[in-house]
Amino acid sequence: MATFYNEEFLGHIQEPFHPESPERLKGIIQMLQRHGLWKDVMTSKIGKLENLLLVHDENYIDFIKTCGECNLTMDTRVHHETYDIASLSAQCAVDAAVWSKEHTKPAFALTRPPGHHAGPAYGMGFCYFNNISIAARYLRKHGDKKIAIIDEDVHHGNGTQEIFKDDPSVLYISTHQLEIFPGTGKVTYVGEGPGEGFTLNIPFQSGCGDSTFDVAFAEVIKPVVEQFEPDAILVSWGVDTHYRDTLASLTLSSQGHLRQAAELVRLSEICGKRITFMLEGGYDIPALSEVVAGVIGATDGVEVPQEFTDVIDNSCLGRPTILRCKSIASQYWDF
Ligand SMILES: [Zn+2]
Repeated sequence: MATFYNEEFLGHIQEPFHPESPERLKGIIQMLQRHGLWKDVMTSKIGKLENLLLVHDENYIDFIKTCGECNLTMDTRVHHETYDIASLSAQCAVDAAVWSKEHTKPAFALTRPPGHHAGPAYGMGFCYFNNISIAARYLRKHGDKKIAIIDEDVHHGNGTQEIFKDDPSVLYISTHQLEIFPGTGKVTYVGEGPGEGFTLNIPFQSGCGDSTFDVAFAEVIKPVVEQFEPDAILVSWGVDTHYRDTLASLTLSSQGHLRQAAELVRLSEICGKRITFMLEGGYDIPALSEVVAGVIGATDGVEVPQEFTDVIDNSCLGRPTILRCKSIASQYWDF
């Protein structure tokens, strides 16, 4: 697996003591180095405006570039350097997805700032430009017909959903925690117009973890993606689903995360192993670090020992939600 990263990402600092800090990437890199996995690291040259324009309004892009110092929301601040770093993060996503296409192998983009809360003309939730959506649109523009985006961050990817809500060429499936930030992602919302049925939301209540995610993958994500037959799979990879994370209260263990990643990589055999993981959230740095290193190591046959392996949900607490989602999705997909 190739890893994509730019050290400029460390220069993005929201505010002192903000959870979305450069220490997140530093922790991941240290863990990768410890296990001999900090190799094959690719960098991006510059964030290209033409790629941002695939998703975002020109006025919004200009605002990020020129506002200087301002707040998009209470927790998402723009600084003088934000445009350069956020557009480079989007480029990192594009370059990783293109590398995966050219090499037909998995890739991991250590994108920071994250992206999935950014919509066409807004940023929020620590996000400015929607990295994964920009990568999906770039692939579409360059020959791919269908892209599947799987979003396993604990928060719903409201920006990604909005960008592709009426677009049947991009399948968006999100697992997330019910009724936390940003409040979108109801199980009943399936997209609009020609995109109806190409958005699926699986919102779990607090406490759901390993067994719930295993069943959601087997019973919803896998069968729907197989029927969709994408040219590539892009993954919004958040580790704020972890039981150690303090921003939310799902309970996935480190092993549970690795199992999801392994299943996704296996599923990508339907599209020639074209799968690109893109970092979204994850704020408990020890858990984030061992999980990301574990995912990268697994595709190279390197086992990264996992410390945080408590299984809290072993009875599929989220089964009612999975059944509800399947019942709604069965209008569009066979189960
Ligand atoms: Zn998140």
